[in-house]
Formats: sequence, structure tokens, C-alpha cells
Amino acid sequence: MLVILGAGESGVGAALLAKKIGLKCFVSDSGQIRDELRQELIGNQIDFEEGKHSEKIILQANEIVKSPGIPDTVPIIQKAMAHNIPIISEIEFAARYTDGTFVAITGSNGKTTTTTLTYHILKAAGLDVALTGNVGHSLARTIANGGHDYYVVELSSFQLDDCYDFNPHIALLLNITPDHLDRYDYKFENYVKSKFRIVQNHTPDDYFIFWQQDKNITSYLKNNPVVSHKLTFTLDSSRSANAYIDNGQIIARFDRRKLKIPVNELSLKGKHNILNAMAATLAAMATGVEDKYILGILRTFPGVEHRLEKVAVVNGVTFINDSKATNVNSVGYALEAMDQPVILILGGIDKGNDYSQLIDLVLQKVKAIVALGKDNTKILRAFGKLVPVYETRSMDQAIEQAYNLAEKNNTVLLSPACASFDLFDNYIDRGNKFKQSVFNLKQKVNA
Ligand code: ADP
Repeated sequence: MLVILGAGESGVGAALLAKKIGLKCFVSDSGQIRDELRQELIGNQIDFEEGKHSEKIILQANEIVKSPGIPDTVPIIQKAMAHNIPIISEIEFAARYTDGTFVAITGSNGKTTTTTLTYHILKAAGLDVALTGNVGHSLARTIANGGHDYYVVELSSFQLDDCYDFNPHIALLLNITPDHLDRYDYKFENYVKSKFRIVQNHTPDDYFIFWQQDKNITSYLKNNPVVSHKLTFTLDSSRSANAYIDNGQIIARFDRRKLKIPVNELSLKGKHNILNAMAATLAAMATGVEDKYILGILRTFPGVEHRLEKVAVVNGVTFINDSKATNVNSVGYALEAMDQPVILILGGIDKGNDYSQLIDLVLQKVKAIVALGKDNTKILRAFGKLVPVYETRSMDQAIEQAYNLAEKNNTVLLSPACASFDLFDNYIDRGNKFKQSVFNLKQKVNA
């Protein structure tokens, strides 16, 4: 019997796939299952429990599929390990049941953007391709619904942790900066190792695409060589990389092909998005997609919601929603991409942020900071002497304050550097409330 721990999108997806292939399974979630997912389990006659983990049943499993949100330290996982029950991720499980080709994307930042961009390029080229993993439906559900030739799959380190045989033909590692260290014994090297599991089964026929300027990636590679074809990208003009910048143009080379696109023709703005575009371009070239499809999507891709999303212009003030920026690194990239004076909305639950990394950019680009969180002490301490900092406790208050501070041709940027759970359900809720608030302001101003 297969036991599935956690009944979110990936757990329920795994259950649906198990059902489809005739594998007996049991789903157990220690919390409440979301209504629509519970209904799916019932509708498909899948055995499940919620609000508990029944050891008697779970420890009879031949194999356990563990949701990425469950750390190894919880008692039921410890017990399963003591009973030598193999524990795998939903990705590992699902990948057994398809012959399709995987393009898998991981990194600390930029995963969703690059995954979505790559998917759209492959789709434009007419390939039978699915967008899956942490974006869209889980891989297991996607496969249960009918297989595809290609899967572009976003992977977090938690999903990679429980992968063993999974081998993506094309693997992308965008960057590695400290994140989620609470799940890695506070050891950065453990987190780095986890990211590299994406190439653990690579053969010389596979492709490994990575950012050549990321020291954390290159120094790991020195001691742990990878045997697949390496395709690299860089923001400078270094021709040792497969994709680089020359005279304001991205040049991407693969085999005997050479693709060129001026940076200012990319629809997505910011240095980080040049990197994401290069990574997606190399992945598409390695898949055999013709230049015209790659160029077409790079010029028109509208971006992903809550990532540097332009919401509205009110009285000459531009409002940008970057609610997904939940660490300092991504706020840095967001600020780099700004070309007008910025009122920055920052704050929420701090995951151990080192704000000193942002000081130069704040001095260059930021007129004022609106702190939005239950506890704003750290932000006040880090920036209070550099720029005016105003404290707020709700999105409406923050928008009102930011708008009052802004002049024509200024930008109000929500790029919080923090998790959202103090005042919002999640980053999506925070981004939606930002948009609603801006929309209300616009109506009021135009009334
Ligand atoms: P992820 O899925 O890895 O969280 P997203 O594509 O959702 O990444 O982007 C999250 C945030 O990170 C965005 O707000 C964006 O500003 C920033 N970002 C996007 N791409 C990169 C990159 N390549 N390097 C650093 N930051 C990035």
C-alpha cells in the first residue's frame, strides 16, 4: 500500500494517479484538508483521514509519498524512517508513470518566472507540453489526466530532497542564495546540496543549465563535477558562457546556432529577468525549438502575477506589485529594475533578513519607506536614519500613505522582503489586497 502524507495539491494529485494506475493508497493529513480537495478524495473513493496520522495504518506502507511542506523532523516521518519505509516526493512517484521529457527548474529566486516563460516558448513551438510542479497542477495530477511529450516543472529544494531516480533531461539551476535554512539544520551547504539533486542522475546526454556568475554554484561544481553538457549564462560579455551580453544584446549559442535579441526588446524588465530569459532561451534551444518562437515569446511574455506586476498609474504615480519578493535578494533585483524615484512598501514576517545588503540601492532609488507589518522595528532600525520610514498596519493605510508621499513620475513598489502571514493569508492575498487598494484609490481619485 502507498501512503500519502499531506493532502494538498501534490498529495491529492499523487492519490489520483495511484487510483488511476490501480495502486491501493491511503491519504493522511494532520491538519484540515481544503474543501475542494476533500471532495475530490471522496468523489474518487480514495481512503483518507484528517486531523491525525494513524500510525497503525501508515507504518504498514510499502512506500510513503511525503508532501514538500512536511519536515523530516515530525514524529511520523521519524517513525517511518525507523521502520525503513522508503519516503519519496510526489515528483519522484509521478515521474515513474510517464515517458515524457522533463525540463526541470530550480533556484532560490526566479523559478516561477523562468518555468512559465519556458513553457510558453515550448507551447508556441507547437510541442505537447505541460506547465507543472509548483506552478499550475501537480505533476502527478497532470500525468493522471493524460501524459504529455514534455513537462516543464518548477521544483523547490523540498521536492528535490525526496527525489532519487528522477532525471530531468534538461535541468536548470538559476541561482543559490540562503533561504529555508530552518529546514537544513541552519547549514547553507545542506541547502546547496539539495539544489544539486536536480542533476544527481545526469548522464553525458543530458543538459545542465546554470548561472555562471553564481559563486555558490561554481564552487560546488569544482568539488562535485557534473557529467552532462553544461550550458551557462552570464550578465557580462564573457564568451565562455553560452548566453552573454554583447553591445546591449543577448547572444545565445547552442551547437552551431546563434540567437540574438536586444535587451530592450525583452518584455520583462530588470537584470534578474535578463538572466531568467537567458535560462529559458537555452532550455528551449536544447529542446530544439526554432529561434522565431523563442524571440516571439521573449518580446511578448506578460510576466507572472505578483512579480513586478504593473498594476495601475494613478495621477502619474505608477503602482507595482512584487508581493512574491519574500527575501532581500529579490527586493534588490526589483529596486535595480526601477527607473523612477521609489516609495517602497516593505515588511511582514522577517525570516532573518540582513537589510544592510539593500542600503546602497535604497540610497540611490528610494525616497521613503512605508513599513507594513505587525512588527516594524527591524526596518526602522535598518533604514530610519537613511530615508523617512512610516509605519502602517493595513494595506489600505500603506497605499494611502505611499500615495501621499509620491509625486508625479514616482513609483510605489510593494516588494516586502518578508513573508506575509502576520497580516495576510499568503503572498497572493497580500498582492491581491494591494491591487484592490490601488483600484479603490484610482476610483476615488478619478471620481
Ligand atoms: P520563485 O518561484 O523562485 O520564488 P519568482 O519567479 O516567483 O521566483 O520570483 C520571485 C521574486 O524574485 C520576484 O519578486 C522577483 O522580483 C525576484 N526574481 C525573479 N527572478 C530572479 C532572479 N533570477 N534572481 C533574483 N531574483 C529574482
